[in-house]
Amino acid sequence: MKRIRVRGWWLLTGLAALVMAVPWPDWFVAYVYSRGVYPHVQRAVTTLSNATPWAVMDAMLLGSAGYLLWRLVRFVARIRERGMTSALWELGRRLVRTTACLVLVFVALWGLNYRRTPLEESLRSSNNGTVSVVTADDVRMLAAAAIHESAQTRPSERGNGVDDFQQVAERLAEPFQRALEQLNMPRISITGRPKISHILTPFFTAAGITGMVNPFALESIVHPDLLPFERPMVLAHEWAHLAGFADEADASAVAWLACVLGGADLAYSAHLFVVLESAAALPPSVWQSLRTSLSPGMVSDIQALAGRLALQQPAVRERAFAVYDGYLRTNRVPDGVRSYARVLRVLVAMRDNTQNPRPIDDGPPLAE
Ligand SMILES: [Zn+2]
Repeated sequence: MKRIRVRGWWLLTGLAALVMAVPWPDWFVAYVYSRGVYPHVQRAVTTLSNATPWAVMDAMLLGSAGYLLWRLVRFVARIRERGMTSALWELGRRLVRTTACLVLVFVALWGLNYRRTPLEESLRSSNNGTVSVVTADDVRMLAAAAIHESAQTRPSERGNGVDDFQQVAERLAEPFQRALEQLNMPRISITGRPKISHILTPFFTAAGITGMVNPFALESIVHPDLLPFERPMVLAHEWAHLAGFADEADASAVAWLACVLGGADLAYSAHLFVVLESAAALPPSVWQSLRTSLSPGMVSDIQALAGRLALQQPAVRERAFAVYDGYLRTNRVPDGVRSYARVLRVLVAMRDNTQNPRPIDDGPPLAE
């Protein structure tokens, strides 16, 4: 019986393993990829995915299910033709080849952004390399300022501009670009149309996920049931990913800056985010002393948020975050899902940089 060939399976697998394993040089990531290739790729791919009102993610998930079903049918036919061992060997090689192709496309379209110099490091190095120790006192000051700003910016009534994602997108576009400029990053040529994934939303609810970027279609997917004050920060966070800030803390910090540069209710979203992050990060006694200064409006917003999050299923959340943690570590994010909590450090670095502004440069120059 003739051997079954799976063309290029070991070559593609080797290539995929190589691109994931090699330490890409900083200058390559910063200049060739982040500021060179990636903005063009993002413009082209997001333009295409923005053309559909539905999430390309859903089509991809259906497509993957169809592909797996097709492989299963072929697998059963092969067992009949050639026996179990040969059928398994063929199936294994085919699945490995498909995975390798996906990894290569992923790295080219988006994944190399994980190798960028973290924003905190860029901010610190442009700030005379000030020691990057963030104390509880820094966080307390950040929280106190955010509580004060929240009280100033909280809209007295709802229905004034952040009630649906399309409105948020329209109002966020300009301050988002200004935030990138302030960070000395190229403007993004096209932002992502906020999209709902009908397949993933029930999973998002159970896992407590607010949104994601589909790395293969560079589209921003958001949870449709977010509260109005959550929406600006969540959409801005996904846009920051689209702008190439792969790191979770960096994306949140960029989102924070974009929102505070926007109108009051965008800013409120950012300040409340910092209040909640600080509440989780500060020693309980310190947080207790700050808590008393929350306005009644903020307290009711936080209660509404707790109500929404009560729909989470801890087991699903734990499983989802364990998988995501593995994914982040494979992409060389050393602290995995804990990277979300690093946002306060980035905000402190941002504050120090504003007090002593210097241009940010996230890599060595190409020529001396
Ligand atoms: Zn994110």
